[in-house]
Amino acid sequence: MTEKPRLSARIAAIAESATLKVDAKAKALQAEGRPVISYAAGEPDFATPEHIVEAALAAVRDPKNHRYTPAAGLPDLREAIAAKTARDSGLEASASQVVVTNGGKQAVYQAFQTLLDDGDEVLVPTPYWTTYPEAIKLAGGRQVDVFAGADQGYLVTVDQLEAARTERTKALLFVSPSNPTGAVYSPEQVREIGEWALEHGIFVVADEIYQNLTYGPIDGDADAPAPRAVSIVEAVPALAEQAILVNGVAKTYAMTGWRLGWMVGPADLMKGAANLQSHLTSNVSNISQRAALAALTGPQEPVEQMRRAFDRRRRTIVAELSKIDGFTVPVPEGAFYVYPDMTGLLGREWGGVTPSSSLELADLILDQAEVAAVPGEAFGPSGYLRFSYALGDEALLEGVQRLQRLFG
Ligand code: GLU
Repeated sequence: MTEKPRLSARIAAIAESATLKVDAKAKALQAEGRPVISYAAGEPDFATPEHIVEAALAAVRDPKNHRYTPAAGLPDLREAIAAKTARDSGLEASASQVVVTNGGKQAVYQAFQTLLDDGDEVLVPTPYWTTYPEAIKLAGGRQVDVFAGADQGYLVTVDQLEAARTERTKALLFVSPSNPTGAVYSPEQVREIGEWALEHGIFVVADEIYQNLTYGPIDGDADAPAPRAVSIVEAVPALAEQAILVNGVAKTYAMTGWRLGWMVGPADLMKGAANLQSHLTSNVSNISQRAALAALTGPQEPVEQMRRAFDRRRRTIVAELSKIDGFTVPVPEGAFYVYPDMTGLLGREWGGVTPSSSLELADLILDQAEVAAVPGEAFGPSGYLRFSYALGDEALLEGVQRLQRLFG
């Protein structure tokens, strides 16, 4: 009798989230009492703003929230998301075009499940967030990497996308500001890419989870208003019929643990995604939905305060990492990540170890400096480290100084 594989081929082919894995390892070491400074997870260190917490507390006590909501979400929240999408992404969508999901991650998963058939190709600007490849694979899609390195500011061009396009190209993943690089496309670049997608009938999955976290020039006025990351559907309105926007409250409102994201798109695609969700998870926790409603419709000052703190930390980490010989540090303009190219440190001996990849270098800095960062292998090619600067100012500086000492 031939032995049957225990895991399905589908599940055997996916790996644990590398960002969550490094973060868990850092937290486990901290729990053992080791003074690890972690730049691993992209998670704001702030508490969720008080008025949002209050709304959730009130919601818990109201029995109407002890029941299911429609699978696609509370009508009021879907309205508020439609209004936010009009304001920030320039897309006039109705509430029926919104599906509320358990975090942006589920929205990414459902977007690809909704769009892809087996063998459909997805163009993925690389470096990419670690979850996209698995979501594409689970939907039967084939990922086609389009690489843009530090030398081009991690921004792909239309020429590169066109060179990668085939008859099977169904979708483009578009992420601006980017995780892991913090790169933001200019309005002109967004328009060019959007027009190209429209011309070739390519669907766009636009992950806009970091759209409210953008910063001006690094040596510019910290009090100046934040520049906007222009949505691809704002730049090319006709693309709305073939675009799914993914977003959520996690990063903007310091609500990672509340698991509240959404997708917005054409009615037929959103109907399909909602059908899938009705079998997968049903609705998102009613309490989290009420909290998100308060986040989107309440005062926005806390968001601006957090954005300014991230900007301050960005300036510090870029300046300090740039002092390390062997690091090339493109200036991030959004999100809360910096993504140095550190190939200059490879093949050299540090404390008895000679790393040949960013994976080995990440191990080395954890062992020798008690600093956690996510290696480039989690996001595409080796040779990079991702540092999240969503941690306290003091720890942020201390960790980089440890690296300066190690590599000094
Ligand atoms: N999106 C965040 C990150 O990239 C949170 C962890 C995760 O879900 O990957 O670190």
